[in-house]
Amino acid sequence: MSNIPWARRGLHVIVKPVGATCNLRCEYCFYLDKASLYPEETAWRMTDQTLEVFVRQYLDAQPEGIDQIDFAFQGGEPTLAGLDFFHRLVELQQRHARPGLRIFNSLQTNGILLDDDWCRFLKERDFLVGLSLDGPPELHDKYRVDPSGKGTCSRVLETLRRLQRHEVEFNVLTCVNRHNADRPLDVYRFLRDRGVRFVQFIPIVEPADESTPDHPAVSPRSVRPRQFGQFLIGVFDEWFAHDVGRVFVRDFDHALAAWVGAGASLCVYAPECGRAVALEHNGDVYACDHFVDREHRLGNLNERPLAELANLAQQERFGRDKSAQLPKCCRDCGVLFACHGGCPKDRLTPAGDGESRLNYLCEGFKMFFEHVDAPMRAMAAEVRTGRPAAGVMQRLQASSTSPPTETAPRRNSPCPCGSGKKFKNCCMRRNAP
Ligand code: SF4
Ligand code: SF4
Ligand code: SF4
Repeated sequence: MSNIPWARRGLHVIVKPVGATCNLRCEYCFYLDKASLYPEETAWRMTDQTLEVFVRQYLDAQPEGIDQIDFAFQGGEPTLAGLDFFHRLVELQQRHARPGLRIFNSLQTNGILLDDDWCRFLKERDFLVGLSLDGPPELHDKYRVDPSGKGTCSRVLETLRRLQRHEVEFNVLTCVNRHNADRPLDVYRFLRDRGVRFVQFIPIVEPADESTPDHPAVSPRSVRPRQFGQFLIGVFDEWFAHDVGRVFVRDFDHALAAWVGAGASLCVYAPECGRAVALEHNGDVYACDHFVDREHRLGNLNERPLAELANLAQQERFGRDKSAQLPKCCRDCGVLFACHGGCPKDRLTPAGDGESRLNYLCEGFKMFFEHVDAPMRAMAAEVRTGRPAAGVMQRLQASSTSPPTETAPRRNSPCPCGSGKKFKNCCMRRNAP
């Protein structure tokens, strides 16, 4: 458990500038129905006033010693807020930031609206774009559809090429579901062969309508635990054989950081939650992007400062519950240091002790982390000697079997993934929750 005082840990905010509004209707979307929290709402775009209050408070909420800050926009579909919204954002950031603070912006998008004007802006302002793409058309189009039910893959691919033409920094977010999970190589090679260099995989786990605490059930779209493990293993083996140092997969970056002893670089695999809150279009602040509901509403930043809301006792409890409520089988688990029980939203399975719950994906996590143990040790050994992890392919035969150390990469030291960038500008940034 972290011994850093709660309130001094950096705060991360995921902003929903148009709430749950979206121009698509992905069948597994967990956010569209959040609109029901605001039954009277007619204006879903964050007002200029709330945007300015947020920017000021978010900058003020950063503890001393923090020299960079990330603004992350998601949805719904954040580009529906319009380019002028983001021009204003940048202007406000410049007006209110303290000298010396570096500001990074990122945008998670379905890509449908990203035309040349958008791409010029994103390039000029150095935004990091996360583009949602679930693999080739026959896999992507199964669930990622527009309001008429039509698949969107061809439009997303057009955007991908446009981002590349404009040299916008981007990564691809791929949701792993029951339909594409049996085809890891098709998904991975499709992305890699189109020049995608940064990928992150998000498992789709949706509790079914008939699910109860005693008899949890998931939707037919949800990835099965073994399927998820096999998917990650399939991609890992291909990546490890051909692409170390050329393609960066967030789950593998995280695993390497864990084996190096740098701690978790993804909230899902971190010991605690709670420092990544969600901001709705009207200023409401929630415990996390995945806990936007009445019970986890912390307040509204137009009424109480963001820093106070994020440091409420209820939020601290929310964060600490992740480790406090770990079942015994997790506490005894050999890969706990890398897994930490996964995201609490997916802890659906009764753990047998009458109280705690085991992650629905446990079997998959275990398969994956056990599978990568030997190569991760080898790469971690490379990293500890100061060489990029890519060198492992030549040095695998002589790889060390020594256990992970507690030597974490420093913010300004070369990134362990071997990209040649500083850690703080590479995996540390990409892996912010
Ligand atoms: S693009 Fe994103 S926000 Fe829109 S429906 Fe799909 S998953 Fe939901
Ligand atoms: S692990 Fe899950 S609940 Fe915790 S911060 Fe991350 S998404 Fe939220
Ligand atoms: S692999 Fe399973 S038992 Fe081990 S920490 Fe993760 S969820 Fe818990």
